[in-house]
Amino acid sequence: MEYISTRGTAPKLTFAEAMLTGLARDGGLYVPATIPQMSHAEIAALAGQPYEEVAYRVMRPFIGDSFTDDAFRGAVERAYAGFGHAARAPLKQLNENHFLLELFHGPTLAFKDFAMQLIGQLFGDELTRRGQRVTIVGATSGDTGSAAIEAFRGIEAVDVFILYPHGRVSEVQRRQMTTPSEDNVHALAVDGDFDDCQARLKDMFNDFAFRDAVGLAGVNSINWARVLAQVVYYFSSAVALGAPHRKVSFAVPTGNFGDIFAGYIARRMGLPIDRLVVATNQNDILHRCLSGHGYHKGETIPSISPSMDIQVSSNFERALFDAYGRDGGAVAQLMEELKSGGFEVSQGAMQVLQDIYASGRVSEDETKTAIGHWLTATGELLCPHSAIGVRVGEALRNPDIPMITLATAHPAKFPAAVEEASGVHPPLPPRMADLYDRPERVTRIANDLGALETHIREHRLK
Ligand SMILES: *Cc1c(COP(=O)(O)O)cnc(C)c1O
Repeated sequence: MEYISTRGTAPKLTFAEAMLTGLARDGGLYVPATIPQMSHAEIAALAGQPYEEVAYRVMRPFIGDSFTDDAFRGAVERAYAGFGHAARAPLKQLNENHFLLELFHGPTLAFKDFAMQLIGQLFGDELTRRGQRVTIVGATSGDTGSAAIEAFRGIEAVDVFILYPHGRVSEVQRRQMTTPSEDNVHALAVDGDFDDCQARLKDMFNDFAFRDAVGLAGVNSINWARVLAQVVYYFSSAVALGAPHRKVSFAVPTGNFGDIFAGYIARRMGLPIDRLVVATNQNDILHRCLSGHGYHKGETIPSISPSMDIQVSSNFERALFDAYGRDGGAVAQLMEELKSGGFEVSQGAMQVLQDIYASGRVSEDETKTAIGHWLTATGELLCPHSAIGVRVGEALRNPDIPMITLATAHPAKFPAAVEEASGVHPPLPPRMADLYDRPERVTRIANDLGALETHIREHRLK
């Protein structure tokens, strides 16, 4: 199995190389050179299997020779062992033919655990085999950082440093980053905002001497291995509702387009998905684009669904690559135009995108109303991101085809917004109830490249 870049000129890599590299050298994103197919019979045989078995069968063809069958199976088993629900990704019914896929039973209560827990195991195995160590540095507005720390805590070949904006993440998010006690975990509270954290991270990647000295690596959402891990729950939920014998649709709260792109891969593999519905908050660049108005950056406006407050949706490049017939030159040209504000999508590519994706946008008031409505109607307390998905999924569903909305976070991760919308304070699950009592460990640090690099050099384990 080979991986190629969406911009067409970077070297082809194996699965393990693409995973350790993240971004391609030509600035593109890695995608599989061909998409493995699953037959009707192979999909039907997934029904009733444990989540880990479905995960193994769906992902195995993408891994190639990078891991042996046994090593890959072991990594999958370890990745999901710590989840708080035996089904890993349970389905609940909300309405006639509308279902909620709960993706928040992992250790940090958001869907990012599905991918991050697995790549933690795969990084650990691959680096041990190579006799290498890396330093993972990430910038976060909350969910990604906590998921990365949970995934890499105690993995010997890795140090993980997470930069978050001091005073600007929720208390649950902060405690999830500052309470793990392993020596290889380093939470850094930067005196600045999220954009400052991201800018310093970029500076570090551009400082080649530093990059090589510490073995800098990234695990942001463009990493192909993260997309792949998310393909699995499209299969597990669709077969539970009758696929491949009948079609299903999905509604996905979307920011960086990683989660919904995983649904597209499932569709390309042969899963009978009718519609993939993109649900955005007021930061609606994807909805505008899919409605035919081009892809043009605006100002990011903070919302009560902060994990979707994004203007440039990095994984959308992968969708464009296929919509333009895998023409890397055309994609490189669009990304060049994006630097000066945006681009128009060609008519042919727009047709391809609109045949696969539908979209909707939800305002702040509509999000709060949806949280209250679904609590009253079903007893289900939704986080703001999930409420956006449910609202768009309900509006755009075909009554004859089951709609599955992805619930991307637990309501207890966003307690203030949920309480304001519903009057109910969402409690943490019992297995995490002591989060507020655990000791915190964090370094407050200036928004300064030199200070950050010195800290990382001195504190990583040798
Ligand atoms: C990251 C995140 C999203 C957006 O997912 P993308 O893959 O970036 O589209 C939605 N909801 C929650 C809770 C998240 O943490």
